[in-house]
Amino acid sequence: MAVIMLSESEIHAEVLNNLESKHNLDFWQRAAPGYDAVVLVPKQYRFLLDIALLFNGIKFKVQVDNVKPFLDEENHLLTEASRRNSGIGRNGALTFNKIHSYEEDHRKPVIFVQSLLHARDWVTLPASLYTIHKLVIDITERDLVEKIDWIILPIANPDGYVASRRNLLFPEHLQRRGLEQKFRFRLGNFACSEVFHGRRAFSEPETRIIKTILDQYVRRMEMFIDIHSFGSMILYGYGTGELPANALTLQVAGVNMAQAIDSVKRPYNKDYTVGNFALVLNKASGTCSDYAQAIGVPLAYTFKLPGFRFGFDTALGFLVHPDFIEQAGIETWEGIKSGAQFVLRVVGQA
Ligand SMILES: [Zn+2]
Repeated sequence: MAVIMLSESEIHAEVLNNLESKHNLDFWQRAAPGYDAVVLVPKQYRFLLDIALLFNGIKFKVQVDNVKPFLDEENHLLTEASRRNSGIGRNGALTFNKIHSYEEDHRKPVIFVQSLLHARDWVTLPASLYTIHKLVIDITERDLVEKIDWIILPIANPDGYVASRRNLLFPEHLQRRGLEQKFRFRLGNFACSEVFHGRRAFSEPETRIIKTILDQYVRRMEMFIDIHSFGSMILYGYGTGELPANALTLQVAGVNMAQAIDSVKRPYNKDYTVGNFALVLNKASGTCSDYAQAIGVPLAYTFKLPGFRFGFDTALGFLVHPDFIEQAGIETWEGIKSGAQFVLRVVGQA
């Protein structure tokens, strides 16, 4: 079952954090000014949690009493949708030979896009796959293909993703999904926590691979986008609230991307919010985009795609309705495209 909680003060945030480690709660979204915390509570802890929340004066409401039927329904809808899918047209696509005779041009800027670092951010996979589709098969912006080298890592946390599909949403099976936090820091202290920081920085092979890519291409890398869900946000560093020297440029490019997405988004989803991670959402150290920013990637972002379920952000925002899969790809691509065009303008190749 999922419970939604309001955290109106820092004291409450602290109480919630304590409850998290005590009862092994699974936070889907952390409380921040204007954002409710969303937490999945195992049945056996429900009573204890209710008491603790009442005792601490934290208002809450049960948003979904039992998540399982929704997961079953989603699986059913996805299976149906994939059965109906008839394949992809190949007009204008890059040929197999072109893809495989690729030679690196060290003058080109690099853009790195990754998704599913958090295994449960399921809606982010269609976004990165659609980006590949637009760069390889259905090419409408040839300059973005020719003038930029793209690195796209659709499933940054493969075993976490498999576990999240197999074991639904229950945290005890998802020890690897907090990989983002393993980039640098200490927050959570138990392995099932979403904010588990790992045994040490870069202790996991997945984070080491991402670090290797970032380190290898940092001199040419103009933009890094780490796609997450949910909340309709484009965030930049640092997670501590300290701003990078080029924060204004980050904000301008971020607003460009947000407006591009907003212009094609579904009307029931809210407009994107752009800003510093800590100021817009919450303090978070050791994130992947902070690492990229810190080593010298000028435009490093975390995207949070919209939650989609029954047309509004709910505790079920992590679930992906088949009707939103293609839309998530289309609208996120508009943002990525706008970011890429910004990069070309900045490096003078547009
Ligand atoms: Zn995430």
